Amino acid sequence: MSQTTSLAPTRHRASLWSLLLANRLATLGLIILLLVLITELAAPVMPLQDPDATNLLQRLLPPMSPNHLLGTDPLGRDLLSRLIWGTRVSLVVGISATLMAALFGTFIGLVAGYAGGRTDSVLMRLIDMLMAFPYILLALVIVAVLGPSLINALYAIAVVNIPFFARNIRGLTIGLRQRDFIHAARLSGKNHFQILLTEVLPNVLPVIVITMSTTVGWMILETAGLSFLGLGAQPPAADLGSMLGQGRAQMFSAPHVSLVPGIMIFLLVMSFNLLGDGIRDMLDPRMKSGVQLRASEMTDVNRPAIPAARFANDAVLEVVDLEVDFRSGTRRQAAVKGISFSVRAGECLGLIGESGSGKSVTALSIMGLVASPPGEVSGGAVYVSGEEMLSLTPSQLQQRRGTRVAYIFQDPLTTLHPQISIGQQVIEAVQAHQPLSRRQAEIKARALLDSVGIPDAGKRFTAYPHQLSGGQRQRVGIAMALANDPDIIIADEPTTALDVTVQAHILALLQQLRRERGLTLLFITHDFGVIAQICDRVAVMRQGEIVETGDTQQVLNAPQHEYTHRLIASVPKLGQGRSFLQHVARLYMPNNTAEKSL
Ligand code: ADP
Ligand code: MG
Repeated sequence: MSQTTSLAPTRHRASLWSLLLANRLATLGLIILLLVLITELAAPVMPLQDPDATNLLQRLLPPMSPNHLLGTDPLGRDLLSRLIWGTRVSLVVGISATLMAALFGTFIGLVAGYAGGRTDSVLMRLIDMLMAFPYILLALVIVAVLGPSLINALYAIAVVNIPFFARNIRGLTIGLRQRDFIHAARLSGKNHFQILLTEVLPNVLPVIVITMSTTVGWMILETAGLSFLGLGAQPPAADLGSMLGQGRAQMFSAPHVSLVPGIMIFLLVMSFNLLGDGIRDMLDPRMKSGVQLRASEMTDVNRPAIPAARFANDAVLEVVDLEVDFRSGTRRQAAVKGISFSVRAGECLGLIGESGSGKSVTALSIMGLVASPPGEVSGGAVYVSGEEMLSLTPSQLQQRRGTRVAYIFQDPLTTLHPQISIGQQVIEAVQAHQPLSRRQAEIKARALLDSVGIPDAGKRFTAYPHQLSGGQRQRVGIAMALANDPDIIIADEPTTALDVTVQAHILALLQQLRRERGLTLLFITHDFGVIAQICDRVAVMRQGEIVETGDTQQVLNAPQHEYTHRLIASVPKLGQGRSFLQHVARLYMPNNTAEKSL
């Protein structure tokens, strides 16, 4: 049985760090950058030769020469020393340009987005003008006007990157401006400047950080480009780009002169980008496991062995020792911890437990529908009519969904397509698995809608989900589940979103369908009242384990487990509310006032 290898860290910060470190590539980027940074900070105290001291007797020495670890350039200058000092310049320029672009871009974006109207139009047209020119051409023009020097290259690079920040931040600010907390801040008397600074800015900060981390590598590359063309660092000073430019003439006779700065540029840009991607994933809660996630077609299955079916052979559904985990970075949390149950043909099994006990995860695992990552089946087996579901290929499993096992979910408004009429949706459900013509499918769909008791089913055929009541929508959900005559229907809290009378109608419908069609049902709920009405047997689930199973009446009359007791006790009974309130009042108020106040 699997267990929780480590519990969620108590500090948010610690978990963010572990997320970043769980992303191997981002960690690699971080390590390279840290090494470079330490070297650059230590440069002044390192026993390096003068990077600008020429010595024509020692021109173009190859790497590993005595005194010159990386060799020398055409003027006999030490390449190691030039590399370290040059990298320092490139880093400072790249990072300063990023900060400048971020500062001005954010300012423009905030003002344009917040002020709206004419201010917005004017600022955005200016930004558009910047964006209208090809990027590097614009930088070239700016440097040509200002004159070639490193500081002018820095300005040019910063200016051409302002639009990226400005556009991003403006879009976000427009969205934030409408939010209630901004209105509340205005009502509390804050002026526009304070609102921008204390309400809007903190909310766009993560995006600024992400944009910066992904653009800084780019900026280093652009600065190098300008220097390579001779528009940046001027001799004898060097940055990586100008070193690359100087090595150009000796590309074939002494390739190390250009390879040394080239490799450094590559390492820096790659590390910044990897780290930037890592930071973006880390700050995005949907990417909690630290890597790009896209759910696969079926839940990952990674189990040591496939246990054999062990119940009676009239079982339609058998779940044997099922274990399901959720991974998050290096952490692994068990949601379902080795549960077994079976449902016989024509039977209704109730799966009951409080919220978070693992009922939905169990239900979804049966058809491999738990999202992977982060979910993973780490043990056990699922047999439907004798066939093991989790060893099927995704496309085989896809075939079984809807025909062998169908689902009814809690909220039909979110499971029905809002822009397709209900009739069409039922037709699609029918045609997904049956080779019927449109005409035949429509006849079947009408019959289905009729059988689930939609009043005026004929006329309602072209209605859209929003035109139906909650109960009617759930009836459509049931019709779609019935569409392909599945062996078993799994209903996951189908009545929780409905009010009590509608719930009673839906339960009556399910009862009726069971009688007429001999439906086999796995019914999930947190409410013993519902179980008592519809289920033959019940399995009580708690924290990923089944603590008690038995006939419904038997469990209701003589619950064995203390948790079952509490679940049964939590069903409200008519007329008991007042005595409960009196009990509470006695606990918390002085005697005489308690009775009066009720
Ligand atoms: P319920 O019994 O209310 O249906 P669930 O089966 O949905 O409960 O959830 C069981 C446990 O699995 C919960 O502790 C929940 O936090 C966890 N869980 C569910 N889905 C995910 C997910 N996508 N990522 C991480 N944990 C999840
Ligand atoms: Mg649930």
